[in-house]
Amino acid sequence: MSFIRTVKGDVPIESLGLMLPHEHLFVDLRGPLAEGYGQGEPQAVSDLLQPYLDHAQALGVTALVDCAPIGVGRNIAVLRHLANKTPIHIVAPTGIYKEAFIPPDKLGHTAKQLAAEWINEITTGIDGSESRAGFIKVAVSDDGPTPLEVRNLQAAVLASRATRATVGCHTIGGAAALRNLDVLEAAGHDMRRFIWIHAHTEPDIRIHIEAARRGIYLEFDAIGAVNWHPQDKLLQSVLALLEAGWVDHILLSHDAGWYEPGQPGGVPAGGFRGYTALIENFIPQLRANGISETVIHQLTVTNPARAMAFLPVPP
Ligand SMILES: [Zn+2]
Repeated sequence: MSFIRTVKGDVPIESLGLMLPHEHLFVDLRGPLAEGYGQGEPQAVSDLLQPYLDHAQALGVTALVDCAPIGVGRNIAVLRHLANKTPIHIVAPTGIYKEAFIPPDKLGHTAKQLAAEWINEITTGIDGSESRAGFIKVAVSDDGPTPLEVRNLQAAVLASRATRATVGCHTIGGAAALRNLDVLEAAGHDMRRFIWIHAHTEPDIRIHIEAARRGIYLEFDAIGAVNWHPQDKLLQSVLALLEAGWVDHILLSHDAGWYEPGQPGGVPAGGFRGYTALIENFIPQLRANGISETVIHQLTVTNPARAMAFLPVPP
């Protein structure tokens, strides 16, 4: 019954192997007012990405969630083109990025109006295509959520309630994360349908445990990002949360990629990172720390499928 919603259609979760819940294929960080914002030639994107997708697929990646929503260049034509070039299932988001990236035409929307647009993308299609969104990505500023970002979270709750799509929120640090959880709980959100994206940015295990106790997923998604986050600290955070008994609440990914318009050859300023450090480096480190194959399967197969799955809408 449960499935993930990919740009090519719904895929039963039983058919999935390892899934990456937070990656990037195409991102435009120049903001929605930049000239040429969000535009890219699909073939140029696949020329850059194909070897990385092929390598990930060869090592066992079966599905990948693209996490660039409206405001940072979501381009459904590019994602559809890529999905036809790789057997990896690609999930596209609806939703909107943090305040500084909100397109002007969405600034005056109510939560209800925004939710209606997102529900349409989840149930009908994105930008006139047949591809439907598979989850809801929002983001808050580092000292957020700002009032507009609270509105975005409330819109996400409404859209999730109507569709059962999961919500993920880019959040730096535990203080902002706990404020988000207060907003979500006040709006009556089903907390099992929420992902704290970038949970590794909070060093305090006690805050991780509190967040898990409130029902959400914590996503440690800087694997292989050696210039962004110390890899030993990320590993220690995951091990501590496992030790504390919260295996059901942990997601792992790279936040890697991507083609970026405006950059030479589309290569992002920090260089292109591929999608395999989890398999090639991190899982071996989990094993070296005594983590069982059963737990590794849960972290990399069961949890991401469950987190992204569309479940039957309750009566
Ligand atoms: Zn990301």
